[in-house]
Amino acid sequence: MGEMNICSEAVIDSIRQGVSNIPPESGGILGGRNDVVTNICLDKGILGKHPCSYTPDTRFLNQKINQWAETGIQFMGMFHVHFGGTESLSEGDKEYIVRIMEVMPKKIGCLYFPVVVMPERKVVAYKAVRNNEKVVIKRDCIKCQGGT
Ligand SMILES: [Zn+2]
Repeated sequence: MGEMNICSEAVIDSIRQGVSNIPPESGGILGGRNDVVTNICLDKGILGKHPCSYTPDTRFLNQKINQWAETGIQFMGMFHVHFGGTESLSEGDKEYIVRIMEVMPKKIGCLYFPVVVMPERKVVAYKAVRNNEKVVIKRDCIKCQGGT
């Protein structure tokens, strides 16, 4: 408990290096097994109303989530980029996270929502958990299973 487990440094690197370093924001999804992140899928997003916020291409991502499910990989969360060094989640981010948790099956007790902070490409993890009927979002550490 209390940390986002990632199977190897290579997975974190593929998140860091995969996202664009120029706006608009991009992001992607996390997949894994036994509460360990093993796979990522990058998403450029779709052009939304707000040019500087990430609007996921949900059709593309849902296809990927279904493909993963066929091979035993579970959806574990989403990540997106923050420009200008902001580590904290915006109000819009929090609302989006709560909405995702609400549409997920109840058996999914927690999801991770890391943010890639530009320009350093620092990955800051957030975890969303259910607390009775409420969704609680907490900052989380990242633990690399395979060492560095
Ligand atoms: Zn954000």
